[in-house]
Amino acid sequence: MRRILIAGNWKMHLNVQQSSLLVHRLSERIKTHNDIEVVLSPSLVSLQPMSLEIDRRKFRLAAQNAYLKDEGAYTGEVSFTMLKELVHYVIIGHSERRIYFCESLETVRDKVAAAFRNGLTPILCIGENKEEREDGMTKQVLHDQIVTALYNLTAEEVAKVVIAYEPVWAISTFGGELAKPAQIETAIKFIRHQIAQLYGQRVADEVRVLYGGSVDDQTARGYLEIPGCDGALIGGASINYMKFSGIVDAAYRMLREGTKE
Ligand code: PEP
Repeated sequence: MRRILIAGNWKMHLNVQQSSLLVHRLSERIKTHNDIEVVLSPSLVSLQPMSLEIDRRKFRLAAQNAYLKDEGAYTGEVSFTMLKELVHYVIIGHSERRIYFCESLETVRDKVAAAFRNGLTPILCIGENKEEREDGMTKQVLHDQIVTALYNLTAEEVAKVVIAYEPVWAISTFGGELAKPAQIETAIKFIRHQIAQLYGQRVADEVRVLYGGSVDDQTARGYLEIPGCDGALIGGASINYMKFSGIVDAAYRMLREGTKE
């Protein structure tokens, strides 16, 4: 069975002290569960202190971004090589980076390759914007994002990638329209179908696919129960310890009550 993954992307919120307080509160509320992995993604400056503070039985860390070269004269950038002692995952291709920082399909591809080169696991975000959905382009957009991002990887590597399906229109930053479970299920099925075509059914069955888009403690269970959905990438609700721990609780209850397919 694929392990459920609940990841919190804290974005550009919380300084080092505030991050430390949040981890402390989450640690008090969140129980360990073998079938649920909880990932926290604070800002870059908080990663180092948090890597020393966290209970590693409860949490893993993710970076929100890194540069695609390993070393060199790239003022202001931090490489995957520099992060590899601190984090397990790196979020790549988040829509805020694709839109605000003009990250192209090829940049995302090179970052995914850099992550593997450095022994890190990408949480690859993909998703169509509103216009693309309305124009019937969702599958084409997902196809192009998947094919390019995974281009340099072996099938073994692809099996380890975590894909977060995040329709841009459902992310709180860009409108936060609530996606319907049927829309998410169709997209997740399509993502696995693409992976199966490119890398075989075994890889498609192994790869974890998360959902992201305005998930909170009230809506989490409904999203987590969608067939093929292996967890959630949470933005806004992840910096509220009641909401984020409520989401982890929802996953816990779903597994305990056996309502996950
Ligand atoms: C995100 O930014 O990845 C995200 C899912 O944000 P939010 O939960 O705030 O919509």
